Amino acid sequence: MSTSTCPATAFPTYRGHMEYVCLGCGARFNIDELHYTCPTCNGVFLLTDTTFDQLKKTSAAEWRAIFDARAASKNPALRGIFRFYELMAPVLEEDDILYLGEGNTPIVDSPPALRADLGLKTAYKNDGQNPSASFKDRGMACAFSFLKSLIRSKGWTEVLAICASTGDTSAAASLYASYVGGAVKSAVILPAGKVTPQQLAQPLGSGAVVLEVPGVFDDCMKVVEHLADNYRVALLNSKNAWRILGQESYAFEVAQWYDWDMKGKCVFVPIGNAGNITAIMGGFLKLHALGVIETLPRVFGVQSHHADPVYRYYAADAGAREFKAVTVTPSVAQAAMIGNPVSFPRVKHFAEKYEAIGGAGSFQVIQVTEQQIMDSMIEANRHGHIACTQGGECLAGAKRAKELGLVTPEETLVLDATAHHLKFIGFQEMYFENTFPAEFGVTPKPELANRPELVIKPEDKARLAEKDYVVQAAQNVVARLGLAKK
Ligand SMILES: *Cc1c(COP(=O)(O)O)cnc(C)c1O
Ligand SMILES: [Zn+2]
Repeated sequence: MSTSTCPATAFPTYRGHMEYVCLGCGARFNIDELHYTCPTCNGVFLLTDTTFDQLKKTSAAEWRAIFDARAASKNPALRGIFRFYELMAPVLEEDDILYLGEGNTPIVDSPPALRADLGLKTAYKNDGQNPSASFKDRGMACAFSFLKSLIRSKGWTEVLAICASTGDTSAAASLYASYVGGAVKSAVILPAGKVTPQQLAQPLGSGAVVLEVPGVFDDCMKVVEHLADNYRVALLNSKNAWRILGQESYAFEVAQWYDWDMKGKCVFVPIGNAGNITAIMGGFLKLHALGVIETLPRVFGVQSHHADPVYRYYAADAGAREFKAVTVTPSVAQAAMIGNPVSFPRVKHFAEKYEAIGGAGSFQVIQVTEQQIMDSMIEANRHGHIACTQGGECLAGAKRAKELGLVTPEETLVLDATAHHLKFIGFQEMYFENTFPAEFGVTPKPELANRPELVIKPEDKARLAEKDYVVQAAQNVVARLGLAKK
């Protein structure tokens, strides 16, 4: 792989020492094996670089200059999330690193009309502009790069990349697996008959083996975990701590976009399994530890009232908090519809650290309704955004935060559109067609509905000569839109 001769964009020479750390019992494990949950206490892991403090020898100004120089690099290994190599997985070699165009997603300011309506300075970070159209690619790029390094160092000739998922995780995992190919075989396990054709399309298109299990998602998860315990498989669900590392890049990019000045910035993130919010807090904390940012942005998690265990936990007074899984009911923020988030211990871990530096209120969780999520998504997209339902959830969260007096018009609110609008298009259709099943509790606002209108009847088109039907159709358009002649 080519390396630029410019020192700032040459592949980094720093190598760290990484270990899995169990958040349950503190046990540490070597990274030369694949680990998902602690064999002792079943806790979840974080990955830590035990030599991170060496990075403090480089000044904050130098780090900023390095990351800014790499933003212009043409080296694929530094072009995406690994622009921040030293902060993420500094055990990988240049040839291990995958780049499918992930990361570096745009932050798009809301247009003046939307900002005026909201009374808020909002912007969307479009993580749906990743290759498989969701942020999951950030984590997969890191997890598969690590897998490549393991295959290389161990000389493996075959390893199965597997996940249980019906949505964006399987789409991203099968995309990266198909790109790597070779020793990597790819399979996804789905609940039979419980996924839509759209949710099947991406893994099928990437050539993954799609296996179905009768039952629900949890049944699939148990099968996958049994496989991970007993066979050589790379499990790509969010227990995989390498995914969390890759997702930290979101925080690094937000900070870089605002020239490392996080004063007056608020970051809104939907919470499902809670991996992404974990990664984003963890990422900002790393930048802060190196002095690259001087202030932590405030982080707001957002949950629907139909799937809100993390909200409920933080809504209680600090002394009385107790985590309880909730039974979810159908949510348009389907990718975040999780009652017992795998990464909850990770959230707790980082929230404590975050508040210790950022003060009370630097991390909060907001609850919104299904109705607010849908109305907000439609409103965002009618102003040129490309938000999915989870992106709508973030805008709903921003409005709610304003109502609660938690944000001001002077602050900049960065909303996470975690997937592309088109991935969750069925919900827009239900809104426009007024066909939401009752359990969602969504009543479309008629003024926001939009449907195609036939401009000329087929029988009129058939009856008229071509020239005449064109004129007739055009006249109908003029009448419908009230056009004035030029
Ligand atoms: C996975 C996913 C989420 C939830 O993220 P967590 O890390 O599970 O909290 C939100 N939105 C989209 C589009 C997703 O794919
Ligand atoms: Zn443990």
